Amino acid sequence: MPSLDSFLREAELAHGHLCAGQVLGVRMAMLGLEKLGIDDPRGKDRKRLVTFVEIDRCATDAIGVVTGCRLGKRALKFRDWGKMAATFVDLESGKAIRIAAKESSKALARSLHPEIENKNRQQMLAYREMAADDLFSTQWVKVDLPAEELPGYKGERIVCAECGEGINFRREVVRDERVLCRGCAGENYYEPL
Ligand SMILES: [Zn+2]
Ligand SMILES: [Zn+2]
Repeated sequence: MPSLDSFLREAELAHGHLCAGQVLGVRMAMLGLEKLGIDDPRGKDRKRLVTFVEIDRCATDAIGVVTGCRLGKRALKFRDWGKMAATFVDLESGKAIRIAAKESSKALARSLHPEIENKNRQQMLAYREMAADDLFSTQWVKVDLPAEELPGYKGERIVCAECGEGINFRREVVRDERVLCRGCAGENYYEPL
């Protein structure tokens, strides 16, 4: 596996800047891969891994860089929980590990480097140096992934009875015996003008 530094250089390019979140995300993903025994997630192991991320912040981009899991490949799943955590699922072994950043890591960063006033710089340095156990809590978990969640799933495409748009991956909803998209079923995040 590439080193922390080389992943950080890649993450900086992909994300647009280097920040504490990148360090956290790179280390979180490296730990997840290490625990699962996956050493080449972007090469020979590229079909083995699915990653759930629980926040849309800096660290998420770094997790994508290290794992090679992308939204467009259906290997990166977003659960909008606002938590600095991710679950790494090995499709080959069925093992999964959830890793969460500890709340105490910020205070520990402060105590390790009180001489650095800038919070981001302080955490960037401390998060590189800190032991994984100080940064993260880990938990083995079970993740059920039905076929339609897996990368490469080819299912039939359904057409919404209301708007006529196509729906993939069994995301349709049945309301009063009509097959609807989630928008027409009332889950809209926008309103037509
Ligand atoms: Zn950032
Ligand atoms: Zn619709």
